Amino acid sequence: MFSRLCYSMPNKDKISRFEERKMATAINIQSSCSEEEWKARQRLAACYRIFAYLGWDEMIFNHITLKVPGEDDAFLINPYGLHFSEVTASTLVKIDIEGNTLDGSTYPVNKAGFTQHSLFHRELPDVHAVIHTHTTATMAVSSLEGGLQPINFYAAAIAPRLAYHKFEGITVHEDEGPRFLTSLGKKRMMLLENHGPVVMGRTLEEAFLNHWVLQRACEIQMQTLAMGKPVMIGEEVIKKHLDNLSQASIDPMQQGVPEFDAMVRLVDREDQSWRE
Ligand SMILES: [Zn+2]
Repeated sequence: MFSRLCYSMPNKDKISRFEERKMATAINIQSSCSEEEWKARQRLAACYRIFAYLGWDEMIFNHITLKVPGEDDAFLINPYGLHFSEVTASTLVKIDIEGNTLDGSTYPVNKAGFTQHSLFHRELPDVHAVIHTHTTATMAVSSLEGGLQPINFYAAAIAPRLAYHKFEGITVHEDEGPRFLTSLGKKRMMLLENHGPVVMGRTLEEAFLNHWVLQRACEIQMQTLAMGKPVMIGEEVIKKHLDNLSQASIDPMQQGVPEFDAMVRLVDREDQSWRE
C-alpha cells in the first residue's frame, strides 16, 4: 500500500496468465465460499469499479481491503496486476494478516502493498475496511504544508477528524507500524505526508463516503489556493457545523449506503461484470 508498493514489480509470468485464471476462479470461488463472503466480495468489487469510475485508480497500484464477515483474520484484497476497472468478485484474493492466500486463488498479491492494511486490520477491531489511494488531489494536499485547511464546506467536516503521519521514505521497516498507530490515535482518517490518504471505516460504505468527502475537500482546496488567499472558517463555526452534521447522521452502519448504491447503479450502466 505504501511507497514500496509503487516500486515493486509483480511476477511477469503470473500477470500474463490472468485471463486463464479468470474463468477457473470464477466458478470455484462462488461455490466454495459462504454467502456472506460472496456478498462482501461483490460489494468490494463494486467499490473498485466505483473508484475507477471516479478516476481514483492508480494504474494497478493501491488497495481497498475488506474484512471477511465472521472471520477475524481474513480479508479481501485486489489481485496485483489488475486495474481497478477489471476487478470482479471472484478475482479478489482472500488473505490472512500475514499475507497468505486462503482461498486457493492463483492470482498474485502484492505483499508489500498490504503491509499497512494488515497492521490496521489487526490492531483496530472496529476497522472493517481500509482504503489507500494516490489521487492527485489527496496526494497534493498531503504534500502541502498545513495539509487540509478549513476553507470549504467539506473540509470543515473532515479536517478536525484527520490525522497526519510524517513521511519516512519507502515503507519497508516493520518498526514504522507503531508510529502509524500513534499518528492515527483515535481518528480513522490519516494523510500520509507527501504520499496520500488512508481512510478506514466500520463498513466499506462508510469508508467510501469519507474518502469521497476528503477527495472533494482536497480538490476544492487545490482550486481555491490556485486563485489566491482563501477565507478561513473559524473554529466556532466548525464546531457548530460538526454538531449539526452529527445530529443529522443516520445509523452508523448505514452511513454511506445510499451514496454507494447510487454509484453502483451508475457503474452498472456501463459494465456489470464486477458481480462475477
Ligand atoms: Zn501508497
